[in-house]
Amino acid sequence: MTPLARLLVERIRETGPITVADYMAECLLHPVHGYYTTRDPFGTKGDFTTAPEISQMFGELVGLALAQAWLDRGSPAPFTLGELGPGRGTLMADILRATRGVPGFHQAAQVVLVEASPRLREMQHAKLCAYEPSWIDRIGDLPEAPLFLIANEFLDALPIRQFIRGPQGWRERLIGLRDEALTFGLSASLPQVPETAAFRHAPDTALVEDNLAARHAIAEVATRIARAGGIAYWIDYGGWRSQGDTLQAMRQHRPDDPLAHPGEADLTAHVDFEPLAALAPAFAYDTQGAVLTRLGIDARAERLACNLTGAALESHRAAHRRLTDPSEMGSLFKVLALTSPGAPPPPGFA
Ligand code: SAH
Repeated sequence: MTPLARLLVERIRETGPITVADYMAECLLHPVHGYYTTRDPFGTKGDFTTAPEISQMFGELVGLALAQAWLDRGSPAPFTLGELGPGRGTLMADILRATRGVPGFHQAAQVVLVEASPRLREMQHAKLCAYEPSWIDRIGDLPEAPLFLIANEFLDALPIRQFIRGPQGWRERLIGLRDEALTFGLSASLPQVPETAAFRHAPDTALVEDNLAARHAIAEVATRIARAGGIAYWIDYGGWRSQGDTLQAMRQHRPDDPLAHPGEADLTAHVDFEPLAALAPAFAYDTQGAVLTRLGIDARAERLACNLTGAALESHRAAHRRLTDPSEMGSLFKVLALTSPGAPPPPGFA
C-alpha cells in the first residue's frame, strides 16, 4: 500500500466514502504524497509524455499562433502570456524561442504561469528565468490585461466526478473500503445532477463524468478575455460529449488500476469539450492534427529534417507522425480556441 493509500483508508474509515474528484485531487496534489507534488512525471524515465516533450515543433507552432493572434488584435501592450500547468516548462520555452523575431512581442509580454506543484515550479524556473516569469496558484489571480493563454494537458488533470444513471435515478460513484482496501461503490440516489447536455441526453444506464473544475477554469478565462481581450488555446485528449468511464491511471508508461497506487500513478480523465465550449462567448474546435497542419507543421518538419540524418531523422519523423497522425495523437487530441465575439478568427482554424 502506498503512504497516500494508508492515509485515504484511514480517512474513509473515519468519515466515510469520498468522491472520485476528492480522490483525484488527493492523488495528484496532496501536499506531501501527491503525484505532481513529489515528482517529474514526464519523459522516458517518468510515467507519460506530452506533445511539447515529443517535439519542439509543437511549442513553436503554438507560439506562432499566439503571436499571430496578438498581431491580429492590434498588438496590445502590455499583455499576459499565460500558461496553465506548464509541466517542465518546455512548451513555454519553445513558444518564447519561436516568437523572438516577432517585433514587440517579447517586450510587451509578461509571462505568468499557473502551477500547483512546487517541484515543477523549480524546473520551470530553471528553464524560463531569463524571461522573469511570475507564478500564481489560481487562474483568478491572472493580471487584468489582455490574455494570450495556452493550456496543454491541464484540463485532463482536474478532478472529475462520476455519476451513474439507474432505475432509481442518478447516483454518484464513490470510493470506499472493502476489507480495508479502496474500492468503488455508489451513493444513495441524488436529488439533482449538473445541468449539462451530457446529463440531459444520457441513456438509461449511462456513466457520465462532470469536470466542475474545468468549467470554472474556462469560465474564468472567458470572463477575462471578454473584459480585456485575448485568446486561449486548450489542448487535451477527449471529445464532444464523451461518455463512459474515462478515469485512467498511467504508471511507467503503462495503464494501471486507478485505485492501485494512489500518489504514484498519473490520474486523468478525457475532457468533454461540449460543456466547456458552452461557456465561451466564441470558440473554435478541431483536432490537434488538423490545427497543427494548418499552422504549418509539415513545412516546419521538412525544414528541421534538412539538418538531420540517421536515427535523429527517424525519430524526428516519428515525432511528426505522433503529433498529427489520426492513429496517434492527431485525432484523440482536440484544440478548443476561446475568443470573443467579433474578434479575428483564431490562427490554426479553417
Ligand atoms: N503542459 C505540460 C504539463 C501537463 S501535466 C505539458 O504539456 O507537458 C499537468 C500540469 O498541470 C502539471 O504541471 C501539473 O503540476 C499542473 N497542475 C495539475 N493540476 C493543477 C492545478 N489544479 N493547478 C495548477 N496546476 C496544476
